[in-house]
Amino acid sequence: MSFDIKKIRADFPILNQKIYGNPLVYFDNAATTQKPKSVIDVITEYYQKYNANVHRGNYFLSQKCTEANEKARKIVQNFINANYSHEIIFTRGTTDSINLVASSFGEKFISCDDEIIISEMEHHSNIVPWQLLCERKKAKIKVLPFNDKGELIIEKLESLISERTKLIAVNHVSNSLGTINPIKKIIEIAHSHNVPVLIDGAQGIQHQKVDVKDLDCDFYAFSGHKIYAPTGIGVLYGKEKWLEKMHPYQGGGEMIDNVTFKKSTYNKLPFKFEAGTPNYIGAIALGKAIDYLNSIGIENIANYEKKLLKYATEKLSQIENLKIYGTANNKASVISFLIKEIQPYDTGMILDKFGIEVRTGHHCTQPIMKHFNITGTIRASFAFYNTKQEFDILYDRLVEINKMFNQ
Ligand code: PLP
Repeated sequence: MSFDIKKIRADFPILNQKIYGNPLVYFDNAATTQKPKSVIDVITEYYQKYNANVHRGNYFLSQKCTEANEKARKIVQNFINANYSHEIIFTRGTTDSINLVASSFGEKFISCDDEIIISEMEHHSNIVPWQLLCERKKAKIKVLPFNDKGELIIEKLESLISERTKLIAVNHVSNSLGTINPIKKIIEIAHSHNVPVLIDGAQGIQHQKVDVKDLDCDFYAFSGHKIYAPTGIGVLYGKEKWLEKMHPYQGGGEMIDNVTFKKSTYNKLPFKFEAGTPNYIGAIALGKAIDYLNSIGIENIANYEKKLLKYATEKLSQIENLKIYGTANNKASVISFLIKEIQPYDTGMILDKFGIEVRTGHHCTQPIMKHFNITGTIRASFAFYNTKQEFDILYDRLVEINKMFNQ
């Protein structure tokens, strides 16, 4: 399909509205994305016509939902090129996926004095679960630093890996800096020391083709709501060899094979990790969102967003007193910046009054803020439905705000 921005924007009903009398300019896509009509419609359709709990009922409605849920799993499998659909675990989101690994993998494979390597540019979701695990197990976290451009200092990785390193967990793309990390290289280095790697793909999956087989990652986690699907659904991809060895994350219905008061045995993959009633409508809607992305083409999306990022970066760089945080050579469409003498929160409040929705604050990455000795940034993050014209609206307001505060 050709990239028809007018048609694409028409697919997202929320974009066509005014905020405080101004056309909405939604630039907080790293926090959550808007949903195309096909995703919204499938949710209504399933609740209106087919709703019944999955994997339980031996009747039409239940079978319909079960089939759709499992079809969605296959759609995810194909989207990321996993070997098997049972390597796709439906979770609540990236945070849930990482906690699953920290809990189950951690329980089995991490002991006292073991080490887990993360990076200095992780979201709190890829820091705190490991800290909780390390507290439980008396293990340690080591941190791979980044340079002032916001690029990981990959040359330091080898020296951080030791006999005791049991896992490396890094993000694909930084939500604050936009850096696309060289995850294939990281995985290669890790595997040369027999260390498995978890990729936090919360900001990676929506901006480029992800091929877990080619990457050879051991785990890849992402959230539905950041990839144009609803909240409350996410994915943990895990290599079968790890998932088979890991203990269940939570106990409850669906994850069991046989239950007695003496002992229970567990269901096969992926159900072993999906205790309780799953968010099957969310999974079905995630499948629809991926269908939608496939119809546009993830490469087309990547190209379009790269052009938008270049345009925005060049223009922002012209504003006197404005500093961009995160100037890596390889970036996704996320720009963090500050204007001298202006609190990010104030800028955000003013922009909001003009219908421009950007994020301000530490973006759940306090260590990044500490690195730059700042408390937060203004972050504009673009999706493929955003336009240069929308960016110009932001640009003009920033020029005005800069004049207002810095003259
Ligand atoms: N990791 C990164 C890099 C993120 O940007 C986010 C959310 O912004 C998360 C993890 C957590 O995602 P969720 O809140 O959907 O679980």
